[in-house]
Amino acid sequence: MNERATLRLKTGRDRSLRRHHPWIMSGSVDHVLGDPQPGDTVVVVDEASRPMALASYSPHSSIRARVWAFDVQQSIDDGFVAARITAAAERRRHLGIADGDAVRLVFGEADGLPGLVVDRYGSVVVFQITTVGIDRRRDAVVAALASLDGVHCVFERSDGDNRSREGLEPTTGVRHGSLPEPVWALENGLRFHVDVEHGHKTGFYIDQRDSRRLVTEHSRDRAVLNVFGYTGSFSVAAARGGASSITTIDSSGPALLLAETNARANEVNIGDLVEADAFTELRSLRDRGASFDLIVLDPPKLANNPNQVDRATRAYKDLNLLALKLLRPGGLLFTYSCSGAVSSDLFQKVVAGAAVDANREAHIVRRLGQPADHPIPLHFPEAEYLKGLMLLAL
Ligand code: SAH
Repeated sequence: MNERATLRLKTGRDRSLRRHHPWIMSGSVDHVLGDPQPGDTVVVVDEASRPMALASYSPHSSIRARVWAFDVQQSIDDGFVAARITAAAERRRHLGIADGDAVRLVFGEADGLPGLVVDRYGSVVVFQITTVGIDRRRDAVVAALASLDGVHCVFERSDGDNRSREGLEPTTGVRHGSLPEPVWALENGLRFHVDVEHGHKTGFYIDQRDSRRLVTEHSRDRAVLNVFGYTGSFSVAAARGGASSITTIDSSGPALLLAETNARANEVNIGDLVEADAFTELRSLRDRGASFDLIVLDPPKLANNPNQVDRATRAYKDLNLLALKLLRPGGLLFTYSCSGAVSSDLFQKVVAGAAVDANREAHIVRRLGQPADHPIPLHFPEAEYLKGLMLLAL
């Protein structure tokens, strides 16, 4: 490992770095000296050879380096990584995440740890590594997480398909302690089963915490339709809020079983579970003249990169058009996009287009997004991936 390797930026390509944006794209690199290996720390210098930052080198990724620190005197070692993890966990303590124990402890660049995501479910923490720089520090990551108060199990879920871009193989398993069975996420007085080993992401969509609370608040005596239900978390939230009826749609049978498990765990009835393609089922509901007072549309990521945005916007439009047609006057639509490549502006335009085509008027009564434990640094807007609108249909 060569800690003194240097990455030199092309002339005029230092602007974003000066604003503390943490990515150095391959197109900004003039040359690299010192033969750094994947994950080595490089000193990033501007055209005049002035040191600007220390960054982790990723020769195979278009994000060629990710900043560890703008203080070039900093040592980038296990202690550095451990201190960043402890600081990130400490920050979460002041966010007022009330009545629950499911928290994102580390959110990549937002916590100065590119390539690392950590979610905590009570005594279990689950981490995901996507870059070679942090992969090198896996042991320090595990030790730091294991030393947090009350943590009894550290589980690795590094199986995202984005790892291959960094030349990393998938790897999962217990790294400290033992995995209790089952694992629960406690939130807003509800509990949800977390499939740490095989569930989506780290097992649960912690990022919809605020929206679930809103759905509980607005469900009393309402007919609720939850599309893309997965864990059924929105259905359980609606049941807790006193919904008069609930229908949950998901194309996955196991997802609907999980929704049922969660309903039972909270001693609520979530009504109808429909195993079907959402696009087809929404059309069929429309053709049957069905209508609802509150609809949740929480599709999976429909655009994985900028090339898929056009196709994704067509799908978002289709879904939102159908949902708006199914809403009774005065009904609420909670609609989301978790595609980072689709901006909130674009998403709003797509939904507005859907309303025109559905011949419905609707008001945005709230903008929805990531909760406080998934913060968006002012200098790193790429951290924003989840956007939502709470619409009131006239
Ligand atoms: N709202 C959920 C998370 C949604 S994840 C929660 O609270 O947990 C997306 C879900 O969409 C997955 O469960 C997946 O099975 C489902 N899905 C993906 N494509 C689908 C389609 N075409 N029709 C119906 N469901 C689909």
